[in-house]
Amino acid sequence: MKAEIFSIGHELLMGELTDTNSSWIAARLPALGIQVQWVSIIGDDQRMLTEAFARGMQRSDLIITTGGLGPTQDDLTREAVAGALGETPVVQDEVVRDLERYFQGRGQVMPSHNVKQALLIPSASFITNRNGTAPGWWTERDGTIVINMPGPPGEMHAIWEEEVEPKLLELVDDEVTITRNIKTMGMSEGAIDEIVSEFFGKENPYLGIYSKADGIHLRIIARSADAASASALIKPVEEAIHERLGEYVWGYDEETPEQAIGPVLKERGLTLATMESCTGGYLANSITEAPDSADYFKGGVVAYTDAMKTVYGVPSETIEKHGGVSQATATAMAKAVLEGLDADYAIGISGVLGPSEIEEKPVGLAYVAIVGAEAVQELELRVPPRRVVIKRRIANQALIELRKMVVAESPG
Ligand code: ATP
Repeated sequence: MKAEIFSIGHELLMGELTDTNSSWIAARLPALGIQVQWVSIIGDDQRMLTEAFARGMQRSDLIITTGGLGPTQDDLTREAVAGALGETPVVQDEVVRDLERYFQGRGQVMPSHNVKQALLIPSASFITNRNGTAPGWWTERDGTIVINMPGPPGEMHAIWEEEVEPKLLELVDDEVTITRNIKTMGMSEGAIDEIVSEFFGKENPYLGIYSKADGIHLRIIARSADAASASALIKPVEEAIHERLGEYVWGYDEETPEQAIGPVLKERGLTLATMESCTGGYLANSITEAPDSADYFKGGVVAYTDAMKTVYGVPSETIEKHGGVSQATATAMAKAVLEGLDADYAIGISGVLGPSEIEEKPVGLAYVAIVGAEAVQELELRVPPRRVVIKRRIANQALIELRKMVVAESPG
C-alpha cells in the first residue's frame, strides 16, 4: 500500500510551527506494511488543498492528513476532500447534538460555526475524537482511502491509536508485521551504515537506521503470513548486527537508557549516586523515571555552580587548578558523591550548557566521570550546542556507559 501524508496549516508554511505530526505518522506506517512516498505541507487554501487531494487520489492508495478540521473559516480540509471527490457535504444532526453536549459539559453554548464540524460527505464516515470537538473523516472512494485527523498532536495520537491504526491493521491483516529495534551507542551512523550495508535497500526484511538522543537505532521490519516466519526473516539480520556491533548495543525496542541500567544495578544489588552540573537535574530525573529506581538510586546533587560543588565535597583546589568544567572536576564530583552517599557507583558531569563559553570551553563540551569501587571511566563528549540536546545526550550517554562498565566489572 502506497501512502502520502499532508500536514495542513498556514502556520506550518510560515515556519511558525514545526511539523511533528507527519514524522510521527510516518514512523508508524512501515510496521503496517505501508510505504510512505510523499509528505507535503499545505496551507489553508481551498484550491491548493483540493488539487493536492485530487493528485493524491491518482497516485496513492492512502492519504493521511492532520489539521484544518477546526470550526473556523480557514479550516478547509473537509471542503477540499469534498471538492476533490465532487461530493456535497451535509450536516449530520446527531453529530451536532454530540457537539452541543460537548460544550454543555463545559458549561458553554456551542458557537454556531462549530456546526461545520458535523459535515459529512456520502463516501466518508466519522472518526471519533474523544479529546476535542473535531471528529476525523475516513473516506473511501475508487480504491483510495483518505484519513483526515485534527492537528493537535495529543488529539491526533489518541485517534490514531484508538481508531485509525486498528482499522488499518484490519486492511493489512493478511500479513503479520514484526519489528525489532536495536539501540547502539558509541559508533557513528556512517560507520554503522558501512558495517551492515548489505542489509539496506531490501523490502523484506527492511532495515532502517535512525540517529536519536540515545544513540543510533537500527530497526528491522519483517512481514510475512505468520509471526514465526516474520521472526525467521528478522533473525539472520539481528544476528549479523550483533556479531558486528555487539559491544555497542545497549538496548532493544522501547527500552530507554534508564530502563536498561535499572535491572543491571538491581540484580547485582548495586547502588548509584550522581552529581551533575550542566545537565541541571536531567540525569537524576531520567534515573527516577524507572519505577523501581528507589531500589538502587541513592540520590543526586545538582551542583550548578562551583560553590555548590565545593559544598558537596569537591576540593576547591581541583576547581581552581583545572576549572569548574574539566575532567578532574567531573571525577572529583563523582568521587565526592560516591563517598558521601556510600554508593557503589557514581556519575559526575560537568560541562558547558551555553549560551556562552566557560573557561574558554565551547558550548556542548562536557566531561563525564563514572566511578566504581575498582575503576574510574572518564569521557570527554561534544554534542550539538542546544540546551535540551546537551542535557538529553549527555545524561543518556552517561547511563549507557555506566551500564557497559557495570556489566564488564560484574558480568552477573
Ligand atoms: P482545532 O480544532 O484544534 O483547530 P485542527 O484540525 O483545525 O484542530 P489546526 O487548527 O490546523 O488543527 O491546528 C491546531 C494546532 O495543532 C496547531 O496550532 C498546532 O499546535 C497543532 N498542530 C497542527 N498541525 C500540526 C503539525 N503538523 N505538527 C505539530 N503540531 C501541529
